[in-house]
Amino acid sequence: MGAQQNQPVKTDQIKRLLKRQKGKMKLQLSHCAHCSLCAESCFLFMANDKEPEYMPSYKVIYSVGVLYKKRGKVDRAFLEKIKKIVWKNCVLCGRCYCPIGVDIPGMIALARSVCRSQGVHPDFEDPKNPESWL
Ligand code: SF4
Ligand code: SF4
Repeated sequence: MGAQQNQPVKTDQIKRLLKRQKGKMKLQLSHCAHCSLCAESCFLFMANDKEPEYMPSYKVIYSVGVLYKKRGKVDRAFLEKIKKIVWKNCVLCGRCYCPIGVDIPGMIALARSVCRSQGVHPDFEDPKNPESWL
C-alpha cells in the first residue's frame, strides 16, 4: 500500500493532468455517437457475455468522462471505484474500432495516469516501481 493511500486527493494535480489533454479528450467525448460499433471489436466485451460494463464507450464515459464532468473534483473512493474499469475491464490493446476515430485506449490511459498520480494502482503494480506499471 502506497503512502498516498490515506491522504486526501490532490485536486490540482488531477486538474493539471486533465488540462494537458482537455481539447482532444472533450472533442472525443462529445463526438462519441454511442453507436456501440466499438463493442463488437473488444474481446473483453465479447468474452464477458456482452456485459455493458465492458463496452468501450461505457468504460470511457464512467472513467475519464466523469473526471472531466467533475473538473477533476473527485475523491479517493471514486478513483478506487474506477480501478476495475480502467485496469481489469480494459487492457489497452487497441483492438476497438471506432469509425470516427475515438481513441478509447488513449482515454483509458489518461484515467490510469490520474489514478496513479494519487497512488491508486491495481494490485499487480508496485506503486514505488514505475517499471512494474503496465
Ligand atoms: S467510441 Fe466510436 S464506435 Fe464506440 S460508441 Fe462511440 S462513436 Fe461508436
Ligand atoms: S483497448 Fe480496451 S476497450 Fe479497446 S478492445 Fe482493448 S480491452 Fe477493449
